[in-house]
Amino acid sequence: MKNNFFPSYSIGPDAYDEIRVVCPHFGKTAVIIGGNTARAKAEPAIRKACSGSIEILGSFLYGDDATFENADKLTEIPEVKEADMIFAVGGGRACDTTKCAAEKLDKPLFTFPTLISNCASVTAVCIMYYPDHTYRANWYRKRPAYHTFINTTITGGSPENYFLAGLGDALSKEYEVLFSARGDKLNYIRSIGVRLAGNCSDGLIEKGAEAARDFHEGKATETLTYVAQNIIISTGLVSNCIPIEYNSSLAHAIYNSFHDVPHTVNALHGDVVCYGTLVLLTLDKQIAERDRMRKLCKEAGLPYKLAHIGIKIEDAPNLVKEAIKKPDVDKVPYPLKEKDILAAIEELEGLD
Ligand SMILES: [Zn+2]
Repeated sequence: MKNNFFPSYSIGPDAYDEIRVVCPHFGKTAVIIGGNTARAKAEPAIRKACSGSIEILGSFLYGDDATFENADKLTEIPEVKEADMIFAVGGGRACDTTKCAAEKLDKPLFTFPTLISNCASVTAVCIMYYPDHTYRANWYRKRPAYHTFINTTITGGSPENYFLAGLGDALSKEYEVLFSARGDKLNYIRSIGVRLAGNCSDGLIEKGAEAARDFHEGKATETLTYVAQNIIISTGLVSNCIPIEYNSSLAHAIYNSFHDVPHTVNALHGDVVCYGTLVLLTLDKQIAERDRMRKLCKEAGLPYKLAHIGIKIEDAPNLVKEAIKKPDVDKVPYPLKEKDILAAIEELEGLD
């Protein structure tokens, strides 16, 4: 029998108050592991929320990237070994390293994302890299964190480009999953995941631009919290229900080829994935949906042309040539042809 675990979370400016409701069932002591910036921002509030119920034994830098080497080093720290619980604080790479370390130590894990940028804080998968920062593996824990605490005062103060990239990455979920799973007979949990994926884009497209404005102006609005849940929780729910071959497609294949071609901008993962999603929708002739998403990209300041991710049109054939080799496009509903992907890119270039 396979276990199915779903994200459990608290969100809001006072989300950390819930630590004393949730965590004492798992122990009396904890360590904090995360990035330096994230810990500087979140740790005082976490410590304050824990006072009187959980003793923090120490706070440690996760390392410089999500590597097994860094995770192993963390498992050797005496306070980490001793603590009843592990608190992962920060962005995707800090969370994934700490998720890996907590699993190796078989200790209850709680996550505290400080960016609205990805679903790492609520998923079981850890995206691991080699020490030279090249991609190594998708490594699976037995389950996601026991609970995720999203303090919107802290996430609201994070860098705007990460929020926008998170919005761009989340926009890929519905289209890539539905494209990969198209025509398949699905078991119960996969069908739940695919149906949830089908619910990812509407909210982002309807409210994404307004949320981007609120974020830019530093306003903690309900719209921003709504979009943050779409970025962190909805995508994470989907990932926990579907197999890896449904989890990405052409948009991520394009991102995974970005470093194979010359580029003048060091675009973030979500920026390139966002552009790649427009290519996928164009290729798949979902033109009305493409135009709806493209309108949001224009309003929110997300990429919708090659130049926005720093790639010249003359390098597009090489980008496509590399993308089509990536495992992201192993599971497709019809064979992908380089010339059709290139035609989709050219069509996007021709739009205003
Ligand atoms: Zn992604």
